[in-house]
Amino acid sequence: MSDVEIRTRLAPSPTGAPHVGTAYQALFGYVWARKNGGKFVLRIEDTDRERSSAESERAIIDSLGWLGIKWDEGPDIGGPYGPYRQSERLEIYHRHVEKLVAEGHAYPCFCSRERLERVRKERQKSGAGSGYDRKCRNIPPEEAGKRVENGEEFTVRMKVPLEGTCRFTDFLRGEIKKDWSSIDDQVILKADGYPTYHLAVVVDDHLMKISHVIRGEEWINSVPKHILLYRFFGWKPPVFCHLPLLRNKDRSKLSKRKNPVSLEWYRRTGILPEALLNFLGLMGWHPADDEEKFSVEEMVEKFRLEDVSLGGPVFDLDKLKWLNGRYIREDLTTEQLMNRLEEWALNRDNFTRILETCKGRMTTLSDWGRLTPHFFTEDIEYRKEDLLLDGLDETGTCEVLQVVLWELERLTPFDKDTIYRMFRKLSDRTGIKLKKLTAPLYVAVSGKTVSTPLFDTMEILGSDVTRMRIRKAMERLGGLSGKRLKKLEKEYERSNVTGRGLD
Ligand code: GLU
Repeated sequence: MSDVEIRTRLAPSPTGAPHVGTAYQALFGYVWARKNGGKFVLRIEDTDRERSSAESERAIIDSLGWLGIKWDEGPDIGGPYGPYRQSERLEIYHRHVEKLVAEGHAYPCFCSRERLERVRKERQKSGAGSGYDRKCRNIPPEEAGKRVENGEEFTVRMKVPLEGTCRFTDFLRGEIKKDWSSIDDQVILKADGYPTYHLAVVVDDHLMKISHVIRGEEWINSVPKHILLYRFFGWKPPVFCHLPLLRNKDRSKLSKRKNPVSLEWYRRTGILPEALLNFLGLMGWHPADDEEKFSVEEMVEKFRLEDVSLGGPVFDLDKLKWLNGRYIREDLTTEQLMNRLEEWALNRDNFTRILETCKGRMTTLSDWGRLTPHFFTEDIEYRKEDLLLDGLDETGTCEVLQVVLWELERLTPFDKDTIYRMFRKLSDRTGIKLKKLTAPLYVAVSGKTVSTPLFDTMEILGSDVTRMRIRKAMERLGGLSGKRLKKLEKEYERSNVTGRGLD
């Protein structure tokens, strides 16, 4: 073994709720570093200024903490190669981009958005390989420099070879080839001065001395661009190891339409972190003795990166629940179980909030059990007829629920006042009275037509559980066909000037 320190990293973009795929990549990177006495780094890739948020970063850190995955360096604890948040590293990227331009590996591009869009469409029609016609690649450097100095808006693109083949090795798959002609002159610096993912990931993985890039298979197609950047800079690339894609039962890529994907959902529905990690470990690896239940410690002991198997692992919720049950029954004393329940939902804070929603309808103390089961279980049965929006059929109701889902997805903060305001607006827009509009939602979140106040209930359940239940209700109604969904999405976007919800 070489004496290079094994350093792995997790590089999430803080653009939404933490995803199980993030935990999956984190686990394998973490285990590989620990196995080798190396370091595991958390780097926040927040170069998409519109979509990144501090709130999402906090949620990622919080979820990883819940899982018990610890990093040795990161934005919250610092480290020798910081800062670990890309938005704080702009000057580093600028320096590197300038070097690439000065050495003729990259060039400023002055094409307007409109032109790029037009060219892309034309080339698509004519079957040309890539999306950009490389117009600015031929501007003499001096002229380009002057235009930049004069304040003209520009991006910077890398010069991808026009012919030949890129070859690289994936640790699990061996040699992979891709023709350069199929790859665009990728933008590496955006007009807002922020780098794109491709530049930032290469510069950071190098400067942070990452030895193994362990991440999801969806990034494999980006490797040629990265390899080229490593070559331009004269750096040695790290080992690339792409984990197999997590799949729904029908083998399509894991998606929220078919599975819960938010870590928060698992936490809120009472999955134990050790069971979830064990389950994620099984998505691509199992110990030689085939025992399916193992702790992270055991995984560290027995894991070998070369044993990761590529057969697309199926994310089977029933299996996760089966494992979770084993942890509860085999590993927890009753007292420990009580402690877990307390941490989970039976604590004073949470229980007080729940009581506030039902106190008004209690006559005996034991009534709380009858009035609040939906706060403690996911086993909710729906009667189709209760879910229908008055005057609409199954599909019509699903369309309304889908719009509600889109709205809830982008709602922050997820509190009762904000939720109420959203429904109020939706009611005004659609002309459906608020009471009528919310009736199927009572049923979706509680299973009953009469239940605890809707907006309070949603706030307590949280965004992920609420949305998952609405999805389940839609499924009960037969759901929407792909075609219908696309059409609705277009209408929805058109009806909102910004294409982003009701505001
Ligand atoms: N920021 C990328 C993500 O959101 C990281 C991809 C990588 O690991 O290189 O997943």
